[in-house]
Amino acid sequence: MPELPEVETVVRGLRQHAVGRTITAVQVAWHKSVEKPDIDAFVAGLVGRRITGADRRGKYILLYMDNGMTMSIHLRMTGRLFILPDGSPISPHTRLVWTLNDGYDIHFDDQRKFGRVALLKPADLAVLHTRLGPEPLDGLSPILLAERLHRRKIAIKSVLLDQGAVAGIGNIYADESLFYAGIHPQRPADSLSPDEIARLHDAIRHVLASAIKRHGTTLRDEQFKGLEGRMGDNQGYLAVFRCTGQPCPRCGTPIERIRLAGRSTHFCPRCQT
Ligand SMILES: [Zn+2]
Repeated sequence: MPELPEVETVVRGLRQHAVGRTITAVQVAWHKSVEKPDIDAFVAGLVGRRITGADRRGKYILLYMDNGMTMSIHLRMTGRLFILPDGSPISPHTRLVWTLNDGYDIHFDDQRKFGRVALLKPADLAVLHTRLGPEPLDGLSPILLAERLHRRKIAIKSVLLDQGAVAGIGNIYADESLFYAGIHPQRPADSLSPDEIARLHDAIRHVLASAIKRHGTTLRDEQFKGLEGRMGDNQGYLAVFRCTGQPCPRCGTPIERIRLAGRSTHFCPRCQT
């Protein structure tokens, strides 16, 4: 599932290829990809609108329109956005196509159909912002992170995956962050010392910023690609995620894998306490 660095990679592509353009047509191939409003209102609300900005909030892509509306896109499991010359063939997994006035189309491909697109009024956008926790790379501080962990008895990894606690972190970057912080994923969140919280804060920022520089992580089974079809490079730099049995890059102990809250969790049993 695309997480913060992958979504950020797509947003950077949209800033280059979509912002400043006007949407001239919208084609909906799979109705359920549109969460709200209904299809007619969704299409009518977008055609003729100029895209004035592209942003990211957690794992949401936000495209701002010139009339104050915002289109949100959540890629979920397999959603991908591609910029293609106008009239490019539609793949069997294409769910939506936005035609732009510069000779290009944006295709929303989504093999498993969990991705969702919505057209939001300012009030809806405000709700989305309040539902999500702080941005790890813009606003999160050790003090704020400590507040989010306070009195939470559940495993620290589960809190990191909670989008209302901290926005944008998923399974890959939760495991990687906990490794660099030297914290065992099953530790109760409220048991972390101030030093450990500071280390975790630094690790989260380091892991996410590095992955953005490498255009995200493309796992073999999920095949993340950026807007121009480019795969990420970060998969070659993962320390523990899906490295079960391989030596820990710090101490050489084989990386272990457990199930935690229904998710595969990878860690070094020696470095992470
Ligand atoms: Zn180790």
